[in-house]
Amino acid sequence: MITKTIWQHTEVLPQETLKFLKGIAADYAKVKGNVYERYSGPGGLGRLASIYDIMTEMRHCGLREQLKLPSVYYELAVRDAVSDIKGTWGVLKNKIRTLLTANENLSSDDRMYLRTVLKLDAVYAAILKGEAYPMPEKAAGLGMDADHVNRLNNLLRRLTRRYQVKPVAGNSDSFCVSPAGYSYKDHSLYLVSRVPRRRVKLPLKDEKTSTRQIRICIKTGFAVIAIPTEVKGQKHEDYQNTLYIHLGYEHMCTLSSGNIYGEEAGKLSAAKSYRLMEKNRQRRKVQARYQESLALGDEKKADAIKANNLGIEKYDRQKKREQARIESYINAELNRMLETEKPGKIVITKPITIDRAKLKYKVSNRKVAEGPQGYVRKRLAQKCQENGIELVEINSKGTGSVCSVCGAEGKRLEEGFVCESCGFQSAIAFNGARNIEKKYKESGK
Ligand SMILES: [Zn+2]
Repeated sequence: MITKTIWQHTEVLPQETLKFLKGIAADYAKVKGNVYERYSGPGGLGRLASIYDIMTEMRHCGLREQLKLPSVYYELAVRDAVSDIKGTWGVLKNKIRTLLTANENLSSDDRMYLRTVLKLDAVYAAILKGEAYPMPEKAAGLGMDADHVNRLNNLLRRLTRRYQVKPVAGNSDSFCVSPAGYSYKDHSLYLVSRVPRRRVKLPLKDEKTSTRQIRICIKTGFAVIAIPTEVKGQKHEDYQNTLYIHLGYEHMCTLSSGNIYGEEAGKLSAAKSYRLMEKNRQRRKVQARYQESLALGDEKKADAIKANNLGIEKYDRQKKREQARIESYINAELNRMLETEKPGKIVITKPITIDRAKLKYKVSNRKVAEGPQGYVRKRLAQKCQENGIELVEINSKGTGSVCSVCGAEGKRLEEGFVCESCGFQSAIAFNGARNIEKKYKESGK
């Protein structure tokens, strides 16, 4: 089963209702902020496993009464915040693990020790707070002396300080509500209000209902409700083929058969970056003119410039629209590929993770991270799951620079892949896809 979100729109809402929603959302954000403050530090790390203890504390700290926030909102805000905190620790630990792998000054025992303590929240928390802790069994076996352990702990503290991102309460335009906090009647959703036994009515545009936790998102003049729904993945009997796919920047998917899907992906992304770059350049110019007017004491002119040109909102809207256009293109092309090729199995390479050599080239890394590839991978994985297609990821080693005909080391030139040994020439992506096929078949699976 897969959880999908379906969206439900309300009718245009009266000011009073919108004011109520905004008030709840603002308090919801306050509760989250409070939980972040209490539990996102090292002190909270060892306690995140027990949501019940945290909930008990939050129930008795007086904040709920102070805000007069009904518990159907209050308790979900606490839960929401705790899972955010867990998420940021997870991201941080992954980042640190990657850096440990890439750190050439560490021995394999050092890495083993650090990986072990990273897994144990109580031990990790004690190290961060500089407190004594029992040496984990697995680490004790390594026979490290106290000085050495201390040095490693210092490294861990340094990395944590450097890369820890504390969650911050975002804009307060949405909140969650548990099933006890809402009901349906006459095409409307009724939400628990701050007044006992009085519910606030939100007329709906359709008849969808939910029995689970829902999220209310406040828009201009109306609200949108996110309803989680379980969808059963559907297996297609006629999907029998195996596809070997090279995922690329220019062409989204190149198959070892030579078929290509998402041929415009590179052009679309490049055009987007170019337009945004142009926009930024113009904005910097306007900004300079604005500052100049201010410096000259011409406030009227400065205000006019500001009103006409510095609209960050409009800029953000355009940026989002560009992003949405690229994403809908990617989705359409992935759908077209699945419908045309009818795969039962898809073989791709694992994403290239950071390694020692790459750490030195941060700029090109950023290009990879921000490119559409991450999104393509995510959507492909999701669509495979939804359609009962097996997705296999193999190591990319030897699928790039080797000739797919004779196996010799070839050259990846601007005009394509060239093998000087047998004379084979093709697009780099096509040679890559054929190598993926070859490597997978040779692995005997
Ligand atoms: Zn060759």
